[in-house]
Amino acid sequence: MSALAHAPSSYAATANRSPLRPALQGAIDADICVIGAGYTGLSAGISLAEAGFKVVVLEQSRVGWGASGRNGGQIVHSYSRDIDFVESHYGAERAKPLASMMFEGAQIIRERVAKYQIQCDLKSGGVYAAMTGRKVRALEEQKALWERCGHPGLTLHDNPDAIRTVVNSGRYQGILVDPTGGHFHPLNLALGEAAALESLGGTIFENTAVTHIERGERPVVHTAQGQVRARYVIVACNAYLGELEPVLSRMSMPCGTQVIATAPLGAVADCLIPSDYCVEDNNFLLDYFRLSADKRLVYGGGVVYGARDPAHIESIIMPKMRKTFPQLGNVKIDYAWTGNFLLTLSRMPEVGQLSKNIYYSQGCSGHGVTFTHLIGRLLGETIRGQAERFNAFASLPHYPFPGGRTFRVPLTAMGALWYNLRDRLGV
Ligand SMILES: Cc1cc2nc3c(=O)[nH]c(=O)nc-3n(C[C@H](O)[C@H](O)[C@H](O)COP(=O)(O)OP(=O)(O)OC[C@H]3O[C@@H](n4cnc5c(N)ncnc54)[C@H](O)[C@@H]3O)c2cc1C
Repeated sequence: MSALAHAPSSYAATANRSPLRPALQGAIDADICVIGAGYTGLSAGISLAEAGFKVVVLEQSRVGWGASGRNGGQIVHSYSRDIDFVESHYGAERAKPLASMMFEGAQIIRERVAKYQIQCDLKSGGVYAAMTGRKVRALEEQKALWERCGHPGLTLHDNPDAIRTVVNSGRYQGILVDPTGGHFHPLNLALGEAAALESLGGTIFENTAVTHIERGERPVVHTAQGQVRARYVIVACNAYLGELEPVLSRMSMPCGTQVIATAPLGAVADCLIPSDYCVEDNNFLLDYFRLSADKRLVYGGGVVYGARDPAHIESIIMPKMRKTFPQLGNVKIDYAWTGNFLLTLSRMPEVGQLSKNIYYSQGCSGHGVTFTHLIGRLLGETIRGQAERFNAFASLPHYPFPGGRTFRVPLTAMGALWYNLRDRLGV
């Protein structure tokens, strides 16, 4: 795969037209230099450009090349750890502002899609599915928690016939239906957001890897052939950061997750997911799936700790898909790809400052579609002088992974095996 090609996904094959932007050459000035053109960088860029800042985005590959252009396309509220975890670990006072923002990311996506007329097949409706009685109780708790946080409209089904009218699988003992969840074409959302940013006067350079960030009153962001002197820098590289800022890589671990897309299924697709909602189960190592606009089943799951690219993606995902939908038989798989998300030890995002004018956000731990949009807005707020909501996240503790660089992967994989085993045994 060339550095300038998107992952070989059904999304890349059906992407809206988008220009190949030039690489940065020479020295320029900006108010804001954003590193990384995924949802975090683009959302921050839009918020700041809307407020009148001159924004420059530097992307090492293409817009949406990272997780943002290859994810499951599922709008999932709250955070990778739900608000009850935040309450019990960090206290009710710290949880309160986070609870007040846990549904805002989805609103931002919907507002942006409407305001900038982004063509990304956005649809409403999401399902959380439970395979065991214990997991159904977890859904009941989630429903009660989200209702307490002011989110009505959730419905829990535990009757097999009722479940099959939403998602036609015998695998689930219960489902929680959220009409305000939803799904969309992830790469087209990123491309549309890039166009929105440019319509506001922002500039995006592709094929422009940042090699070094020079601290100072006006930090300078260096690339192979150019540099940007800015008032503020936002590091939005997430799982693809590499060694650009080692202090950030030490606090997190890139992980791969794999996705396949079937050939278009026509009317069969509607029999699989009659609601056309997106679905994810509530296991520790979860499966997530939905129908695309061209009626493919897009099915994801699996985690590779340390983010090595697995050779046989189909053989990882097909058995999971067959268990969920045995009626599919030997369906043809047109696309298979992998992408990296960034895991943190607490599974809460890591947000903060590397210096007074260099900000970062990373580590949504697999549930980042809504948070990346929220944090983009909060980065805009804090740079404009309203830091309260940004600080609600920035004040959460960050922990290094036990085992350091050498042992963090096997140690985390062992922990995950344990939780996976519990899920399989239903305990
Ligand atoms: C396969 C998959 C499925 C997922 N499904 C879902 C889902 O259904 N729902 C959900 O909520 N979340 C999902 N996620 C997580 C979600 O996609 C991510 O949390 C989110 O997209 C992260 O956005 P980001 O902008 O922070 O990072 P990214 O989108 O990864 O963007 C980071 C960008 O930084 C660039 N970059 C890195 N280093 C440099 C550098 N030195 N110079 C210039 N540019 C650089 C990269 O090229 C990249 O484009 C999924 C993730 C994956 C991988």
